[in-house]
Amino acid sequence: MRVGVLGGGQLARMLAIAGERIGVATTCLDPAPDACAGQVAKHICAAWDDPGALDALAAASDVVTFEFENVPPASLERLAPRVTVRPSAEALRVSADRLAEKNLFRALGSRTAEFAAIAQPSDADSAARAVGAPAILKTRHSGYDGKGQRRIGDAGELASAWRAAGSVPCILEAMVPFRREVSIIAVRGLDGALAFYPLSENTHRDGILHIAVSRPGDPLQAPAEAVATRLMEKLGYVGVLAIEFFDVDGELLVNEFAPRVHNSGHWSIEGAETSQFENHLRAVLGMPLGSTAPTGCAAMVNFVGQMPDAAEVLRLPGARLHAYGKAPRPGRKLGHATVLDSDPARCGQLAAQLAGLA
Ligand code: AMP
Repeated sequence: MRVGVLGGGQLARMLAIAGERIGVATTCLDPAPDACAGQVAKHICAAWDDPGALDALAAASDVVTFEFENVPPASLERLAPRVTVRPSAEALRVSADRLAEKNLFRALGSRTAEFAAIAQPSDADSAARAVGAPAILKTRHSGYDGKGQRRIGDAGELASAWRAAGSVPCILEAMVPFRREVSIIAVRGLDGALAFYPLSENTHRDGILHIAVSRPGDPLQAPAEAVATRLMEKLGYVGVLAIEFFDVDGELLVNEFAPRVHNSGHWSIEGAETSQFENHLRAVLGMPLGSTAPTGCAAMVNFVGQMPDAAEVLRLPGARLHAYGKAPRPGRKLGHATVLDSDPARCGQLAAQLAGLA
């Protein structure tokens, strides 16, 4: 079996590593000559919309998937008649537009923060009135890891913040007083089978995921699964997806979803019977899904900007180190490590020690 991946970063790399074990050969397409998935998979080095490269990717693949949601529409149009692409173009379109995404969740009966669209200067006043302050201005497209966001303390700041955002289409979102941030990683097979990983509790640093801890038995597991089920069934989704939520006094508000494997599910490599990466491959290739049962409590810490000393990480009992083979650069995700323990309290202590090294 052969899978093509648009993108050659760490997500493609971990898909390729998972695939290698079950006999799936991976080819990635990425314009960066040093794309880190290229160390473990075939790499077509070309622009995202290079027709010849897309044709080569299609010819090398039984199915094509992707590791980021802002795939150029032209690339999808070129691939569509040549090879099966999963998840669907519709899932990509919705997830790449914060307004379409929020409208869909609302239509499915899920709660979100209050929001309003801003497309022209005259929208600013009504948006500020509808949403109130404090609020966050987010670009509708191309935002991730907190990029493209501006905090608004007072309605009077909105017009200048929108200009500073380049006057591009935005949404204004009420600031949510959340207790914690959680995400669910879910997978739907070609036959419609569903499976869910235990919730992940996530903390961010400088807008980037820092620590993700698995929470088997969390009281919000069932409502999160219900949101994921409605979304995946509405989209006829095939593959892994992640939905990020705010926990506000025990109620879930949806923040956003990603139609792909997700950083908050990296602990599943060791912390679940089948990792999110293997399950994504199984799903897009039409194979049976694997068990998502947890193997205990797991915590993952991201290494951003620079890697810690490997020996320091490996000294921690049971720590598993994942280095992505990327050159250090500020703000760049270079690797992660996961600790496991049957006891959540001990797992938390190990995670704190690991975080001290990051
Ligand atoms: P996002 O790009 O939407 O995932 O936002 C990045 C991070 O900004 C989130 O993980 C939250 O920590 C924070 N954030 C985003 N939207 C809100 C909101 N409406 N209220 C409070 N915090 C938010």
